[in-house]
Amino acid sequence: MRYSAFSIVKQALSGNRNWAPAWREPQPKAHYDVIIVGGGAHGLATAYYLAKEFSTANIAVLEKSYIGSGNAGRNTTIIRSNYMLPGNSAFYELSLKLWEGLERELNYNAMVSQRGMVYLIHSDSQRDAMARAGNAMLMNGSDAELLDREQVRRLLPYLNYDHARFPILGAFVQRRAGTVRHDAVVWGYARAADSRGVDIIQDCEVTAIRRQDGLVTGVETSKGFIGCNKLALATAGNTSTVGRMAGLDLPIESHVLQAFVSEGLKPLIDHVIIYGTGGHFYISQSDKGGLVFGADLDGYSSYAQRGNLAAVESTMADGVALIPGLSRVRALRAWGGIMDMTMDGSPIIDRTPVDNLYLNGGWCYGGFKATPASGFCFAHLIARNEPHPVARLLRLDRFERGFPLDEGGKGPQPNLQ
Ligand SMILES: Cc1cc2nc3c(=O)[nH]c(=O)nc-3n(C[C@H](O)[C@H](O)[C@H](O)COP(=O)(O)OP(=O)(O)OC[C@H]3O[C@@H](n4cnc5c(N)ncnc54)[C@H](O)[C@@H]3O)c2cc1C
Repeated sequence: MRYSAFSIVKQALSGNRNWAPAWREPQPKAHYDVIIVGGGAHGLATAYYLAKEFSTANIAVLEKSYIGSGNAGRNTTIIRSNYMLPGNSAFYELSLKLWEGLERELNYNAMVSQRGMVYLIHSDSQRDAMARAGNAMLMNGSDAELLDREQVRRLLPYLNYDHARFPILGAFVQRRAGTVRHDAVVWGYARAADSRGVDIIQDCEVTAIRRQDGLVTGVETSKGFIGCNKLALATAGNTSTVGRMAGLDLPIESHVLQAFVSEGLKPLIDHVIIYGTGGHFYISQSDKGGLVFGADLDGYSSYAQRGNLAAVESTMADGVALIPGLSRVRALRAWGGIMDMTMDGSPIIDRTPVDNLYLNGGWCYGGFKATPASGFCFAHLIARNEPHPVARLLRLDRFERGFPLDEGGKGPQPNLQ
C-alpha cells in the first residue's frame, strides 16, 4: 500500500479501518540466504538495500525484542557529516545525501529536518581546528561555515554570552545537518524491506552461532535453529557478546549513554546546538516541543539501558551553563542506550576471519546519522564480498595494522571517544 495524501483521505472516509499492517509477522523459515542479526536501523536498512540494490532474495532480520528497541529508538536524532578524515568524510557525506532523498525512497514520512547544526567555538585553538575541519569538508564537496560571535548571537540570542566560564567566540555551522525522527526511520525501512520480501522476525534472540568446517551454517535462536549461507551482525551495543558466539574477540567496549527530554515548550530552539568545550552538551527541539538533549557517556562499561545520576547532574549543569533559561524547564524523561565504542571512535563495516560472517558495529554515539550509508555499504559488502569504496577504510584489522581513524585525536580510549 502506497502512502499518499489520496490514501489518507480515502482511509479517513472509511473510518481508518482499512490500513494494511506496515509489515508482516512471519514465522522463521528453516533456511535463508542472508540472516541479519539486529532489528535496529542499521540491520533493517541493510536488509532493504540488499533486497533492492543487490537483488538478494530470501533475507531475514532477527531481533531479540521489538524492532527499534535498541539505540535506534533511543538516540537524540541528530544527523550531520562534519568529519574530516579520509575514511569517515566520504562515508558520512554519502549518508547525509541519502537522508536527503530517504522519504521519497521509502515512501515514508521520517520527518527529515535540515535545520542546521551550530557547533559553538570557545577558544582560538578550537576555532583553528574547526576551520581546518570545515575546509576539509568543503574540499570533499560538503557544506561548512564559520560564524563570528555577533553572527551567533543574532542566530541564537538565548545562549549565555556574557557571564559564561567558556565565552562563545563563534561557531562552526553545517546548514544541511539536522534531525530525523528515529522511530520513523526504523518503521520506514522495516516497511520497505518487508514489501521486498524480507522476513522481519521479532522476539527472536540469537543465542549461539553454529559453525562447521570454519563456516557459519546458521544460528540457534529462541525460536529454534535457523540456517543461512551468510550471517551479518548489526547488533550495536551487543556486538562484542554476539561476536564472541563466533569466537571473535572484537576491539569494542559497551558503554551507557543517556538522553533526556523536557516538557513541551513553544518553539524556541530551531537548530541543533553543540557545546563541546569545558563540558559536552547537545540540544534540539522536537516537533512536539520537547527539548531533546544529551552529553557524554556515563564513563563505565555496562549492558544496562539506563544510566546513573552523576551523568544526569553534569548534563544538566552543562545545559544551564549554556542556556541559563533551562534551569526553569522540567525534564520529563531520561533513558540510556548501550554504545558499541571502538578504540578510535570510528565504525567497522567489514568481513571477519570467519569467511561468511560479516560485521557492522562500533558506532559509538554517532551511528544514527550513518544509518543509510551503513545499510547501503554493508549490503554491498555482503552481496559482493568486497567493501564499498566509501567504506573501504572502516576495516576490522586497522588496529593491528596501526591505522586507526581517530577523528577526535583522543587515543585508544573507548570511553573518551
Ligand atoms: C542516548 C543516545 C543518543 C544518541 N544520539 C545520537 C545522535 O544524536 N546521532 C547519531 O548519529 N547517533 C546517536 N546515537 C547512536 C545511535 O543511536 C547508534 O549508533 C545506532 O542507533 C546504532 O545502530 P542500530 O540502530 O542498528 O542499533 P540498535 O537499534 O541498538 O540495533 C541493534 C539491535 O540488535 C538487537 N540485538 C542485540 N543482540 C541480539 C541478539 N543476540 N539476537 C537478536 N537481536 C539482538 C538489539 O535488541 C537491537 O535492537 C545515540 C545513542 C544513544 C543511546
